[in-house]
Amino acid sequence: MAYVALYRKWRPKTFSDLVGQEHVSRTLSQAIETGRVGHAYLFSGPRGTGKTSTAKILAKALNCEQGPTTEPCNECESCRRVNDGTSMDVFEIDAASNRGIDEIRDLRETVKFAPANGKYKVYIIDEVHMLTSEAFNALLKTLEEPPERVVFILATTEIHKVPATIQSRCQRYDFKRISGRHIAERLRYVADNSGISADEAALSLIARESAGGMRDALSTLDQCASLAEEKVSEDIVREVLGLVGHDWVVRILKAVSGHNAAEALKALSELIQEGKDLKQLIGEMIAELRSIMVYQAVGTSDGIDFYETSEETLKEGAAMFAPEAFAPMLERLHAALSELRWTSEPRIAVETAILELCRPQTAGTAAIGTSAAAAVQGADSVRIAQLEARLQELSAALAARPVHSAPPMRSGMPGAAKKTAVHPAVSAPGNVPAGQLKISPEGQKLWQDLLANISSEPKYKLIGDFLSRGQFGGWNKGMFRVFMRSPFLVRRLEQDDYKGLVESRLALITGQPMRLLCEVAGDLTPQAPRPMPKKKPEEKSPLEQQVQKDIESMSPDARKQMDTAMAVFGNHFVEVQENKGEASSVDMEAPPQEEDIPLPTDEDAPFPDEEDMPPVPPEE
Ligand SMILES: [Zn+2]
Repeated sequence: MAYVALYRKWRPKTFSDLVGQEHVSRTLSQAIETGRVGHAYLFSGPRGTGKTSTAKILAKALNCEQGPTTEPCNECESCRRVNDGTSMDVFEIDAASNRGIDEIRDLRETVKFAPANGKYKVYIIDEVHMLTSEAFNALLKTLEEPPERVVFILATTEIHKVPATIQSRCQRYDFKRISGRHIAERLRYVADNSGISADEAALSLIARESAGGMRDALSTLDQCASLAEEKVSEDIVREVLGLVGHDWVVRILKAVSGHNAAEALKALSELIQEGKDLKQLIGEMIAELRSIMVYQAVGTSDGIDFYETSEETLKEGAAMFAPEAFAPMLERLHAALSELRWTSEPRIAVETAILELCRPQTAGTAAIGTSAAAAVQGADSVRIAQLEARLQELSAALAARPVHSAPPMRSGMPGAAKKTAVHPAVSAPGNVPAGQLKISPEGQKLWQDLLANISSEPKYKLIGDFLSRGQFGGWNKGMFRVFMRSPFLVRRLEQDDYKGLVESRLALITGQPMRLLCEVAGDLTPQAPRPMPKKKPEEKSPLEQQVQKDIESMSPDARKQMDTAMAVFGNHFVEVQENKGEASSVDMEAPPQEEDIPLPTDEDAPFPDEEDMPPVPPEE
């Protein structure tokens, strides 16, 4: 008798034989039992997960002489013919080799004729995504008006390539990758019943390497069995699959965790001499690291497919690396893997990657294990160095910042002392600490857009000017911060009309609701102090004291006017001494000579005394 490949011989013949696809077999069995068989099915899923086998089981179940039945007998002529591929009513079309429209046209011709045995005609179209668009159109016409007693079963590994019009006319079943454990069990069953002697470890290795595909696993077992003189061992499986081997991977990872570059490179060199594939090595390192990472996270090997099944090795690996080490290491290895696809110097690519892993900043933040203390210290000093560098960067950035844009407020002026009381909402803006708002180029751009947007409308021009005296202070998705130079300006900006306008414009520009957060600029730049007259913060000059007193005793209306005046003219107070014609001054922003806000001259005094900072005109 001719040799029959294992995967064909052990192809599942009934629904109960199907491994790992219980959700499919259960639903299909129910459909047969209740007589509600659809006219078109779409089976999608990775290769070797049982799509074609299921299609054939369904075909047998419908046409079995005992049927329709959920358990086709596999004995009757109909069943045997389906198994042999000689049935007159079950047609298998491989779209991968028959992309043409001819086959579908033939199908449309034959589909009209009644089934030979009087039950069902079943068309199984494998790799249906390979059909040309003409063929899809022809198929669609048939699916739209299916003749009686015809069942289409379309199978595909690439569901996204199947047109939606086809998908919508089929009942869809998604086949899952089969777990390593299920595959290993099935391999054991097949081996025992085929007279193949095999190590448990060898079968587990085959199961792991078959990526959830039963057909690949059985083919591998087949090859191994034909090579093995007595027993299928792990070594033979590695030979057949061209695997690097777990021992090598563990040796290199140990060197990495101990920052032992010499040892890692030595192992790599030996491996290359043995003719192992470098892509395979990187792939296996990734698989091993993933196993260790998952094991470290969940603390058990139950129910998870691991590259290395021995719990002991996993435990050892978990002790070698800290949790935060895995992401950078995996990232680097994946980069090496894609580099290997195009580089003409694969060895250099792999050496570079492994050397980088050996460096403390990649693997090492991590290494808490054997060579722990030294590694941790190394990692700490690296982290400290990074922090120092960052600190320097920040100080440089702050020093370079234009000082006049956010002058420190001299404490002692009315607003400063009361700031927190006046703006409690400012210090606790919802659940987002204001300090976390980021000053990004997009934020700066948003600020510029906001100013341009508001100033572009003549009736809001004054408000645009008012706002442009502030400073952008950071943003995030729901919040936008503006620094104003004084509490008075902040209070004005926080009034509903101004705030409402700004927030509505921010929403308009960004397309999402945004809260305006106003703060006093003095908070921002304590690190850029300017020479100031030496006096205690609480000490006030007589003039300052007088100004504060005056402001505090104002009526609410007068105070509002005062605020507005300061918004326009700045917080620069001058005491006019009638006799001498001299002025002594007090300024909220030192130094007084800095002309941030020029006093208006006659020509440019657009603000009348009363409606000084006009309210926002109503929207048209
Ligand atoms: Zn039968």
